Amino acid sequence: MDQKIVNEIQELKQKRKAVILAHNYQLPEIQDLADFCGDSLGLSIEASKTDAEVIVFCGVRFMAETAKILSPDKKVVMPDPWAGCPMADMITAEQLCGLKGKCRDALVVCYVNSTAAVKAESDYCCTSANAVEVVNSLPRDRRIIFVPDQHLGRFVEEKTGRELILWPGYCPTHALIGEDDIREARQEHPAAVVMVHPECSEPVKHMADALLSTGQMLKFVKASPAKEFIVATEVGLIHPLKKVRPDAQFIPAGSRAVCPNMKKTTVEKVLASLTNLEYEVTVPKDIRLMAKRSLERMVEILPEK
Ligand code: SF4
Repeated sequence: MDQKIVNEIQELKQKRKAVILAHNYQLPEIQDLADFCGDSLGLSIEASKTDAEVIVFCGVRFMAETAKILSPDKKVVMPDPWAGCPMADMITAEQLCGLKGKCRDALVVCYVNSTAAVKAESDYCCTSANAVEVVNSLPRDRRIIFVPDQHLGRFVEEKTGRELILWPGYCPTHALIGEDDIREARQEHPAAVVMVHPECSEPVKHMADALLSTGQMLKFVKASPAKEFIVATEVGLIHPLKKVRPDAQFIPAGSRAVCPNMKKTTVEKVLASLTNLEYEVTVPKDIRLMAKRSLERMVEILPEK
């Protein structure tokens, strides 16, 4: 990494009163220069607690929107304005409204990997770590629409025994992890623990020793006596996993699970973002307030663990 650029970023960060957030799937050099690394909701909550005036979100658009929803008075910028999430974009607010119109009695739970406009049309938000608890907390006599990730939705169905109205969205990156990838990794590392993200397909999830969100994977390896782990999620997570357990070996489940949007952020773009305070992410006030309500409802039913 070019130390001169890193120094410039650190200087500008002070000058702009900025905080840099990096998602767990970002390039290692981006994670290393960030003030906070983690999952999208955790990062947005951390940033909201700071007195920073600017949030530089190194992630994808829905994450920057979530940061804006929780920190409306801070300027939120993304180093690459084209870093989107194909899964979040698989459902629009209009499509969700159409579905709600057909299932008028249903409550809507949206995965945090969704646009602000979709969150605004939802009753509850959830993360991959708490989706099961959110759905379990809802009245048994109400139907539930779950958007946009069908794989996370099916995982919730299995765990809760409730039938959900699923939207057929999926993460194209996690879809690249196949059963053969797990099988091959297991053959080479028979003692390894297989950790799988709920965004993976059902056959892959059924091969897991542990089904975990990214944050849960980090906690799991810290507490585990195992020395080898097969990691079935986006490969960027290997970097923070190694920091947590430098003595352990982490084997990606295949080499294809690379999210191209997550890799769009570079140190040069972070420098340009801080220099020009670009590219600003805004959320219209009415959408922001409604989206915040669905996030708050999630927090209300799930006191922080
Ligand atoms: S890894 Fe999947 S869910 Fe995450 S940003 Fe990329 S496409 Fe979206």
